[in-house]
Amino acid sequence: MREMTRGGSMMNSRKKPVGSASRHSRPPISVVTGGAGFLGSHLTDFLLDGGHHVIVIDNLVTGNLANISHLAGDARFRFIKQDVTEFLFLEGPVDYVWHFASPASPIDYADLPIQTLKVGSLGTHKALGLAKHKGARFFLASTSEVYGDPEIHPQSEDYWGNVNPVGPRGCYDEAKRFAEAITMAYHREHGVPTRIVRIFNTYGPRMRLNDGRVVPEFICQALANKPLTVFGKGDQTRSFCYYSDLIEGIYRLMMCDESNPVNLGNPSELRIVDFARAVIDATASRSRLVFRPLPQDDPKQRKPDITNARALLGWEPRVDLKVGLARTVEDFRGRLSQVRPVKKLARKKSTQIPKSR
Ligand code: UDP
Repeated sequence: MREMTRGGSMMNSRKKPVGSASRHSRPPISVVTGGAGFLGSHLTDFLLDGGHHVIVIDNLVTGNLANISHLAGDARFRFIKQDVTEFLFLEGPVDYVWHFASPASPIDYADLPIQTLKVGSLGTHKALGLAKHKGARFFLASTSEVYGDPEIHPQSEDYWGNVNPVGPRGCYDEAKRFAEAITMAYHREHGVPTRIVRIFNTYGPRMRLNDGRVVPEFICQALANKPLTVFGKGDQTRSFCYYSDLIEGIYRLMMCDESNPVNLGNPSELRIVDFARAVIDATASRSRLVFRPLPQDDPKQRKPDITNARALLGWEPRVDLKVGLARTVEDFRGRLSQVRPVKKLARKKSTQIPKSR
């Protein structure tokens, strides 16, 4: 793990952990809300690897204990099963609060619109309150969804977005927009040191098999040699960032002193129909493509402008889509082989994730 200085140079910090705690002779202490989710659990591993002690808070509505089960018994790690919209009480010092809790897939926030709104608003308020009380630095995992169905391309941080507040994605988009607003308010009014990342489509091992987002959906379909369900004509675009690139950028952002939102994502844009073909290649699948209606308010084009991330953090994605997809397919293959006897990955309202790891 490396520490970033403002000028973009890095130094190895594996021996001496970073953070305000380095002033005290103890390891830095991080709280990760949503730490049993896809990104939260990878961040937790990254922090532990870099010398942090980590407290994960997750209500397991869309998170999965299997993502953190390998940490059981590690004295530097603690798991608290709690909804972050409730008061967060923790004894002892906290140096960093990383707020990642939220449903993040369009079908999840369609199933859980009120919980999505609550975790983005009340949950962010509680997480900020914890950071303020502890004198900790606060990090908000925001999203490219704050740009809605964008009218400018690529999207830079100074674009204010084109969001339909009452559409099916409104609960997620507006919750995250509120989360950004309250984060800036805590920064301005209370002087809490805050960071905001706007995360563009990210993929990798540990994504939920039945998450509904395009990467898990296509990989599961391809591995079963079933048709890949391309929505619309598939000419809408996305750009996919491998999780390890994203986590590195997130860490660098927390350790720099930028309080304005920063985009992190892969600027290499492709059409969903081409992504479907890439998944078929990566899985050597016999699947064909079928076309289904485009969901309401599905953004037509999405690609991050990462000029700021490059300048502030010296960051850009390194993992090629082919390499990232191969690793992700391998992870999915392993997990699917364990759940296959359970027949079908049925999706139920607010379901727990299949015990698959
Ligand atoms: N998509 C698709 N087939 C699927 C799932 C998603 O064609 O089975 C499309 C979806 O319409 C969108 C893109 O893939 O244009 C990415 O969808 P995802 O749910 O991953 O997240 P989004 O980027 O829309 O938030």
